[in-house]
Amino acid sequence: LSKNKGRNRYEFFSYLMEDEALEKRRLIEDLRIAIREEQFELYYQPIFSLDGQCAAKAEALIRWNHPKRGLVSPGEFIEVAESSGLIGLIGDWVRKQAISDAATWYEKTGHVVQISVNTSPLQIDQGGNWANAWIEQTAAKDLPPQAILLEVTENTLMDLSSPIQEQIERLSQHGINIAIDDFGVGYSSLAYLQKLDIDVLKIDRSFIQDLQTNESSVALIRAIITMAHNLEVLVVAEGVETEVQQQLLQQLACDYLQGFLFAKPMPAQAFYESYVEGAPVKTKRISG
Ligand code: C2E
Ligand code: MG
Ligand code: MG
Ligand code: MG
Repeated sequence: LSKNKGRNRYEFFSYLMEDEALEKRRLIEDLRIAIREEQFELYYQPIFSLDGQCAAKAEALIRWNHPKRGLVSPGEFIEVAESSGLIGLIGDWVRKQAISDAATWYEKTGHVVQISVNTSPLQIDQGGNWANAWIEQTAAKDLPPQAILLEVTENTLMDLSSPIQEQIERLSQHGINIAIDDFGVGYSSLAYLQKLDIDVLKIDRSFIQDLQTNESSVALIRAIITMAHNLEVLVVAEGVETEVQQQLLQQLACDYLQGFLFAKPMPAQAFYESYVEGAPVKTKRISG
């Protein structure tokens, strides 16, 4: 009996495994089609000053308009795109689209709207093409380099091989800004903050969530902000959802706030109409 049971368990297990592998293969196949047919779209989440005014900045966040599944979030495909090697082509599309949107808004308004673009470490090649592409393609569209802020994670910087470091330095010297995304949850070696010309730290949402309930989160964020400001680095709080969090972050002299309290990610046209065209714009009033 126990042998039988064991076999059934094994069969059940292997069925799941096969199903998962199949599901992944299908996803990769669909992703190839998505790249070819450009089924992607960039959403934009505006970034706000402490007083609740849109700061003429936004983060570009990829969405996939899947013909059958509808709008798919990056959480459901970025990892597979990375492991299958497709992230490079997706990153190329994101760069092209972000530069095109930013250049259109700059041309229409004469003002720079700074667009943050997420970067997977696997998009950064050894030969310098990643940095070259950003420099060349912004220039080709007459977009000031300051209009682009590239977000990398601590894990990218942990392995600070010379090709990655060299490219970040070159972009920085050219005037493209660099941010560390999800700060505080990765392998923090603070050496890179000093070594590289980092412009912005984005404090991970998990710390912001804890702000109201956890005294040590307040202390931690205070320390991060003090350190950042001493190094002339600006700080963005990610995932601000409540007015209490906003007030605490104001007291801590955080520089910028991003989160559902102010605005969710939205299609490019909606962002342009609500936050760029004819700015300064409708904003969420702060209380107190
Ligand atoms: P991220 O870069 O940390 O982006 C912030 C995520 O938090 C976004 O999720 C955003 O919608 C969400 N968010 C913002 N404010 C709030 C809030 O107040 N509450 C909550 N609960 N969530 C909030 P999204 O768009 O699903 O993106 C998830 C992740 O996918 C991003 O995290 C980023 O790591 C990755 N990603 C997005 N776009 C790209 C891309 O173009 N290229 C690459 N390589 N990765 C991307
Ligand atoms: Mg990000
Ligand atoms: Mg710089
Ligand atoms: Mg983040």
